[in-house]
Amino acid sequence: MEMNPRIIKNIRKVDPYVPGEQPQHRVIKLNTNENPYPPAPGVERALREIDTDRFRLYPDPSANVLVSALAEHYGVSTDQVFAGVGSDDVLSMCFLTFFNSGKPILFPDITYSFYKVWAELYRIPYECPKLDENFRIVKEDYYRENGGVIVPNPNAPTAIYEELGFVEDIIAHNPDVVVIVDEAYIDFAGRSAVELIDRYDNLIVVQTFSKARSMAGMRIGYAISNPALIRYLNDVKYSFNSYTMNQTSIACGTEAVKDRAYFEKTTEKIVETREWAKEELRKLGFEFPDSRANFIFARHPRYDAGELFEILKKQDIYVRHWDSKRIRQYLRITVGTREEMEQLFSALKAYIR
Ligand SMILES: *Cc1c(COP(=O)(O)O)cnc(C)c1O
Repeated sequence: MEMNPRIIKNIRKVDPYVPGEQPQHRVIKLNTNENPYPPAPGVERALREIDTDRFRLYPDPSANVLVSALAEHYGVSTDQVFAGVGSDDVLSMCFLTFFNSGKPILFPDITYSFYKVWAELYRIPYECPKLDENFRIVKEDYYRENGGVIVPNPNAPTAIYEELGFVEDIIAHNPDVVVIVDEAYIDFAGRSAVELIDRYDNLIVVQTFSKARSMAGMRIGYAISNPALIRYLNDVKYSFNSYTMNQTSIACGTEAVKDRAYFEKTTEKIVETREWAKEELRKLGFEFPDSRANFIFARHPRYDAGELFEILKKQDIYVRHWDSKRIRQYLRITVGTREEMEQLFSALKAYIR
């Protein structure tokens, strides 16, 4: 059917975020920064105890048990926590709620590509200060008039972590706008900006269950801030869809937060594997910024990244590659189990001489 162009004219057009591939057959999956370990054992227990009769009812719109568990874990009050369907949902709500000045918001040119998609979707003007030649954020680029700031720490896909004082400088130089710190990978890295929450009324920290808590499939994310900003965020959420998080995610997420020991143990294992993997990559001649996340952003001076990507994929080893300026020669490799990484290295060794 020929579409009437006047209809098309009024449709909102967006270049959507392109998620990493999710192959349905068994592969060594090092392409979307998922955790190679299962979630905490309590999650399986919670799942077995789910009362399906309750599926008749709407879930708790405030996800109160989950919010309380998170508040206790981080030593904040429950009115300082907002829960959403993955941090993508939380971040999107934050854009909608906090970035309304009409002035451009700021985020790095190389970063999580969803930021640009939301800015376009919500028609928020934006500017993207360039990372320096070592892929570091230049904090002074954020010391100017703007409509808000979002910085991930560690940044993705570079995996570079900036010390807390660096992030604090950006927050302190932007007292009139909201600064979102996206800490999807903070548990693999260092000190979190959560400890600055009581000192800065413009700070909101966003984290996720998808990486260090092994629950990407359950879609749980959260924000921690002061009660005023959390209230504004909830007002927007309740104007949009009150029942965002399903009962099962709420129950399973709560169990995952409660098991601090398991979380620390698996996170530590990934950090250990990462440090070993850095050594192995170096021996093969790869170059990469020092990673403090659960992935490594690496290039080989003598081998084309697109080619390496295809060669690995043929052997059912999936990593991530973007055919875009400045990062075309890089692969983003998620840290899997030691065994998965050994298979990756043996595939690379067969090719790299
Ligand atoms: C993975 C990731 C997210 C989103 O995670 P969810 O699965 O939606 O919780 C957000 N920001 C960054 C930088 C990420 O890498």
